[in-house]
Amino acid sequence: MKIEKSRALFSEAQKYIPGGVNSPVRAFKAVGGDPLFIKSSKGAYMFDEDDNKYIDLINSWGPMILGHGHEGIAQAVREAVDHSLSFGAPTRKEVEIAELITHMMPSVEKVRMVNSGTEATMSALRLARGFTGRDKIIKFEGCYHGHGDSFLIAAGSGAATMGIPNSPGVTKGTAQDTLTAPFNNLKAVQDLVDRNNGNIAAIILEPVAGNMGCVLPQEGYLLGLRDICDKNGIVLIFDEVMTGFRLSKGGAQELFGVRPDLTTLGKIIGGGMPVGAYGGKAEIMDFVSPAGPVYQAGTLSGNPVAMSAGLAMLTYLNEHSEIYKSLQDTTSRIAAGYRLSLDKLDLKYTINHIGSMISMFFTDQPVFDFDSAKTSNTELFGRYFRGMLERGVYLPPSQFETYFISTAIDNSIADEIIRANHEVLEELT
Ligand code: PLP
Repeated sequence: MKIEKSRALFSEAQKYIPGGVNSPVRAFKAVGGDPLFIKSSKGAYMFDEDDNKYIDLINSWGPMILGHGHEGIAQAVREAVDHSLSFGAPTRKEVEIAELITHMMPSVEKVRMVNSGTEATMSALRLARGFTGRDKIIKFEGCYHGHGDSFLIAAGSGAATMGIPNSPGVTKGTAQDTLTAPFNNLKAVQDLVDRNNGNIAAIILEPVAGNMGCVLPQEGYLLGLRDICDKNGIVLIFDEVMTGFRLSKGGAQELFGVRPDLTTLGKIIGGGMPVGAYGGKAEIMDFVSPAGPVYQAGTLSGNPVAMSAGLAMLTYLNEHSEIYKSLQDTTSRIAAGYRLSLDKLDLKYTINHIGSMISMFFTDQPVFDFDSAKTSNTELFGRYFRGMLERGVYLPPSQFETYFISTAIDNSIADEIIRANHEVLEELT
């Protein structure tokens, strides 16, 4: 595989950009080799600067659920640009998208648009603290909620991949207010609540974790958290930045039938533009300024071009809920193909999947929390990643990330992925 142009760009990039990238995990540090510089994309594929073609299983880390270059979204953006890039004043599109979100996700009665998932989670946290008058929060080991200070404690995603789940620069005071528990362990949460009687503002989690690889909630876990929150006046926040509009039209909360108090959103909601949102019960959201005292603002929040892309994306999903079944079928096909290869090769790696999220862990243990995810052989994953890339399949460059399946991946592309997987596993054993 020729990657001279990517190599040259990476060496230039390192002169001007820390580590040569604008988000750490893109640097391929955990898997070895140089990152690819991407020039264009279409449907299921991305093309790099050296004109290599890849089946894309990152899909911009989630937003491109319809694959790349969806015409309806591109057209909406073109039309918006013709009107203006930004006004900094209220627009019709903001009302339309807020109405649509509350329709698709009924626990969200009111919603505030922001520019990223990080902003959404930071803001939701401040709101939960302002609403309850309490300081501490509970998050789960291996869950990632963006790079806000309160969340860089036992964090997943790039923080875990780079070996810095607790980032320098987060003050002791902030860290003290973030309590952590293992995912899927209700008793640990109950113990924390008992020990910090009356001072927990919020419990925040990815209802299906994607940032330690794909990890599913066990039966009764989400309901158990709902129950603990109800009994203790704690705000339950589902971080659906990844799962929102991906696992179903109404996200993980619809799939599992559990209503959080607040929800954070990102990725798909912007159709590929930088957008996030937080929303929930009107009673809580009305604490946000200017309706209430909790301050949160944004120069580019509700930007008309971003809103147009998001609105086009959500309208499409709302009108085509059949895609969720087909995404699940494609993902199950890939999982079944992988399992067949593992059986043939007598390997016992663990595959977790749900809807259009899937991960293969290089461990023979069931993966249900961060500790079990970390039993994966990450060195082996690195070699697997490079083998897949050489065969034209672009996976997330970390064991601690989920792959995202898009509607552009049809059965024949799924079979190509399965074939590549078999060849690479065979080579590695
Ligand atoms: N929450 C979750 C669950 C995420 O997966 C991410 C990003 O991957 C974030 C929050 C942060 O979103 P952003 O990268 O848009 O700031």
